[in-house]
Amino acid sequence: MTAVDVKFPSTPTALVRGVLGRCPRCGQGRLLHHYLKLVDRCSVCGESYGHFRTDDAAPWLTILVVGHMTVPMVLISEIHFQLPMRLALAIYVPLIVGLAAIMLPRCKGVLAALMWAMKAEGSEKI
Ligand SMILES: [Zn+2]
Repeated sequence: MTAVDVKFPSTPTALVRGVLGRCPRCGQGRLLHHYLKLVDRCSVCGESYGHFRTDDAAPWLTILVVGHMTVPMVLISEIHFQLPMRLALAIYVPLIVGLAAIMLPRCKGVLAALMWAMKAEGSEKI
């Protein structure tokens, strides 16, 4: 399968593939390797991704998503349970750090897929 053989998917399909860490174009090859590094080319369809730069958008989106997931939970639990500070820190810090670690590559994948779908490749294309 080459880049010519694969049809372009819809933008929502490309975004879902990006969240899953798959090539937005074919959905088969990997989009990321070594946790956050975009692959230079899809191993299945050959689409080029190495020139995309998501810069600070992925951490920003991760903070936005994780913050919206955890802050209401922390506020509600503080209102209803009033946990001791050490117990609260023992629960919230690993939870928030873990969620951020899980969400960061997904956010980077969706942003790279969005850039690919919008053809916002920048001037660094190889
Ligand atoms: Zn591909």
